[in-house]
Amino acid sequence: MTQILPDDVGRGFSTRAIHAGQRPDPTTGTIMPPIHQTSTYAQEALGVHKGYEYARSKNPTREALERNVANLEGAKHGFAFSSGMGCFDTLMKLFRAGDHLVIGSNVYGGTFRLVDKIIQHYGIAISWVDTRDPQRIEDAIRPNTKGLILETPTNPLMHLTDLAAASAIAKKAGALTIVDNTFASPFFQNPLALGADLAWHSSTKYLNGHSDLLGGVAVMNDDALAARVQFAQNSGGAVPGPMDAWLTLRGTKTLALRMRAHDANGRAVSQWLADRVGAERVFYPGLASHPQHELAKRQMRGFGGMVSCETGSRENADMIVRRFRLFTLAESLGGVESLVCQPAGMTHASIEPARRLEIGITDGLLRFSVGVEDIEDLLEDLEQAFKGI
Ligand SMILES: *Cc1c(COP(=O)(O)O)cnc(C)c1O
Repeated sequence: MTQILPDDVGRGFSTRAIHAGQRPDPTTGTIMPPIHQTSTYAQEALGVHKGYEYARSKNPTREALERNVANLEGAKHGFAFSSGMGCFDTLMKLFRAGDHLVIGSNVYGGTFRLVDKIIQHYGIAISWVDTRDPQRIEDAIRPNTKGLILETPTNPLMHLTDLAAASAIAKKAGALTIVDNTFASPFFQNPLALGADLAWHSSTKYLNGHSDLLGGVAVMNDDALAARVQFAQNSGGAVPGPMDAWLTLRGTKTLALRMRAHDANGRAVSQWLADRVGAERVFYPGLASHPQHELAKRQMRGFGGMVSCETGSRENADMIVRRFRLFTLAESLGGVESLVCQPAGMTHASIEPARRLEIGITDGLLRFSVGVEDIEDLLEDLEQAFKGI
């Protein structure tokens, strides 16, 4: 059985990323945690076992990942899922008919779709709120508000929410603050330290970082909340297989290295775009022209590799993506390779056109997931793709 280290393996982010939740296997000495590819576990006698009964409830490889990510977020508990949406779907089971949720109006398209098309038909009332202004959150609170669902920075417009202010409002109302921390990653932002009750990730993105699996992770400090999430995780069963948990663990070891590189390239690409098309058309929290740049500096330690740019028209956007040689046209983000997507037709296609325009997602908007390639090559690719635009 894999022994799992206590979480005090070091103070630095990289040290914790490489060691937390893991140590050499005591039976053989393997440096890497074994991939416990099993559905069940031998028990010694009736009611006597090593704490593992069935792999939906617990798997040692998955536990190593859960403890690793919890450590990186400064959390006591972590739970891993088969995808980011599998994670969020499970979190929605913390609520029941009669509850009211306040949700950011610019959350990930899949999050919006799950709530709008499924969750709200279960007797849960929803208020979609532009959470950039904390006052709007306060105004939306009702006596039965049980949850505040946030994402910051948002996809693809890089709107920020002041997590300390928002969490304080929810706490006063007795509501849980749940934050999608996918874009910033734990390297740049820790929602729990800012007052949130629960942070979650699509580990498909930066945590894994290599575009080769789907996953989700939720972390929290409160023991009672953790027990509820674990119950929902085990009941619903949207858990990752041990191979995917192991691959994600391999990814988190280099999270600090990758995020520093994404951040450096993100800054350079956003500056290039701002010089080219005008700063008001480029959305990146690290640009001094970003309306919430001061907040970004306050609650984030870096700005990452996600940059969006208004190209003016669908025709311009189409021409640019056709010309790209390095930036690949694809959904998803957070891998080492640079990707580009058109949110209106791809990630946000499930949102009705009128609502899309209302929140600012035009047909000419392109979103870049800036990878960790050499910056000279990325800028050269942008230069040739934007010729004449
Ligand atoms: C991708 C993504 C999700 C959904 O995660 P999956 O792993 O694709 O299910 C949720 N939130 C954000 C911000 C994402 O980018």
